[in-house]
Amino acid sequence: MQFIDLKAQYQHLKDDIDAGVLGVLEHGRFIMGPEVKALEDALSEYTGVTQTVSCASGTDALQLALMALEIGPGDAVFTTPFTFFATAEVISLVGAVPVFVDIDAETYNIDPERLEEAVVDVAAKGELTPRAIIAVDLFGLPADYDALDQIAEAHGLDIIEDAAQGFGGTYHGRQACSLARIGTTSFFPAKPLGCYGDGGAVFTNDANIAEVLRSLRVHGKGTDKYDNVRIGLNSRLDTLQAAILIEKLKAFPQELVDRQRVADRYTSRLSDAIVTPLVPDGLTSSWAQYTVRAPSGQRAAILDSLKAKGIPTAIYYGKSLHEQSAYSDHPHVAFPCPNSEAAAECVFSLPMHPYLADEEADRIADAVRASIELAA
Ligand SMILES: *Cc1c(COP(=O)(O)O)cnc(C)c1O
Repeated sequence: MQFIDLKAQYQHLKDDIDAGVLGVLEHGRFIMGPEVKALEDALSEYTGVTQTVSCASGTDALQLALMALEIGPGDAVFTTPFTFFATAEVISLVGAVPVFVDIDAETYNIDPERLEEAVVDVAAKGELTPRAIIAVDLFGLPADYDALDQIAEAHGLDIIEDAAQGFGGTYHGRQACSLARIGTTSFFPAKPLGCYGDGGAVFTNDANIAEVLRSLRVHGKGTDKYDNVRIGLNSRLDTLQAAILIEKLKAFPQELVDRQRVADRYTSRLSDAIVTPLVPDGLTSSWAQYTVRAPSGQRAAILDSLKAKGIPTAIYYGKSLHEQSAYSDHPHVAFPCPNSEAAAECVFSLPMHPYLADEEADRIADAVRASIELAA
């Protein structure tokens, strides 16, 4: 059994993906070939934004977003400590200071009340200029954007939506990646919409920001890449990856239905035995991960017993970012994060992909139930 079965997906889409890849090998325009623009247009249509700028990874997408907003030294960027390292890493890379704010204990996304307190506190101290919030749609569930918008507006902050995991989720009818001034995603193979290597994209309705992003991803190009008007990156999406993503995006709506089917199956069989994911009314998750919460002190025993039955699991995340050694001697601000620290000790994720059969999901759920009884 696979935690994420990319081979099953490839078998399902093989003819179309092979044809797309061969087409690129034949026309030979490996950098910024026609598939890149075609994919960007398809992504704009899917997410409902006017501008999609593809790039080399989800990490670069975040860094490009910060660069486009001219965020740098002296600036504070507020984010969650319960996410993949890249979310905060890019803040440090552009010379700004990450400010870690605790999560909501049930959604695992940044807690708007704690955020507001943190913004007020940082502003009052006067050492850093509050500039932006990077909200993460963790495990595929959009953050609380209505509350975040109010805070951003009150304090003059920009919001960047890190939808590396969120692509495909919805917030009151609006698509993830379109929920903030700038949205970003990742096409890392294991993400909901993954390619066969690294890739990412930035989403916005602001044509001026999009123009800056298109310059930044090619060495800050002006009229061409030998006319350089700003300091940028080399961060383009390969044409081959775009061709693969065009085919995967066509299959994506049905895959989302199947991810929901697996999630529903797990929830109906597990919600009386363990803490299952909360999806607030009006929101849908892309189910990048199906993450449950073990009773305190029992996670290791539960995972051992699942492993013995051949069921793969993963821990996202076992250490909050403010506790990573990289930040022990790197500038950052950490407000108290008890919910993030508690989650890091208890959560684990179950196999999740659209090609997981009902019988397999049932076997996994049964094994989880049995392992909880053993661990108790
Ligand atoms: C995967 C991920 C990223 C980074 O994406 P890459 O494509 O691997 O660079 C950023 N943020 C979150 C929340 C992620 O899960």
